[in-house]
Amino acid sequence: MRRKLVVGNWKMHGSVATNKTLLAGIISGVQNLDNSDCAVCVPYPYLCQTQLFLQDTKVAWGAQNLCPNEDGALTGAVSSAMLVDYGCTYVILGHSERRIQFHETDETAAARFNAALKAGLTPVFCMGESKEERESDWTEYVVGRQLDSIIRRFGAEVLTKAVLAYEPLWAVGTGNPATPEQAQKVHQFIRRRVAKCNPEVAAELRILYGGSVKPSNAAQLFGMPDIDGGLIGGASLEAEQFVAICKAANDAACSVSEQVALEES
Ligand code: PEP
Repeated sequence: MRRKLVVGNWKMHGSVATNKTLLAGIISGVQNLDNSDCAVCVPYPYLCQTQLFLQDTKVAWGAQNLCPNEDGALTGAVSSAMLVDYGCTYVILGHSERRIQFHETDETAAARFNAALKAGLTPVFCMGESKEERESDWTEYVVGRQLDSIIRRFGAEVLTKAVLAYEPLWAVGTGNPATPEQAQKVHQFIRRRVAKCNPEVAAELRILYGGSVKPSNAAQLFGMPDIDGGLIGGASLEAEQFVAICKAANDAACSVSEQVALEES
């Protein structure tokens, strides 16, 4: 059975002082949540601080991008090995803000994905359509193309070592989330597309939803059959909100396992 996962994406937010309060609040808030996983992906300069706070706790950590090259004259770049040095488990890749504002493409996102896997990091690979693409009924074409950019190059089996995130651009940072039904439809499309290549991989694959998830909508989203947790931006910057979202994931996991036990009895 897939464990729910909630990943915070701090983006370019934080300071040494505010991180202390945020991380302490998250550690204490999630300590009894045994049926789900959670992680925070922080800006590079805070990886050392995050590692010091989170080691030996339930909360994993990671970064928000990496450079696919191993090393070299690449001013400003950070390699996968450097993330491993700081104990990262996850790395967010292909985020829409990277694709749009930093001109990353399916090709460069795939190269990063490959570098992450080689280093033993778990990519949280983001996919999603713009408002115009949704209105033109191109959602499946766009998300399918982004998914294929990985499957065609590396095969579906690599997805056993990755997490996917469906993040419609019109929902990210807008306060306008997808409805649980809208999100479920795309998650089901993603899972079915992976299943055509490898049904076992598809059954185990965690697909997160991201885009204006809040404590008020998390339970409904995480209650959908193909939504395995969330990638959380704004609400991951407040311990109380992030913990409430992690609790919603944990509660959803508990009700799924109760249902399975009932069906088996
Ligand atoms: C994100 O940036 O990945 C995200 C989902 O942001 P928000 O939760 O603020 O919409």
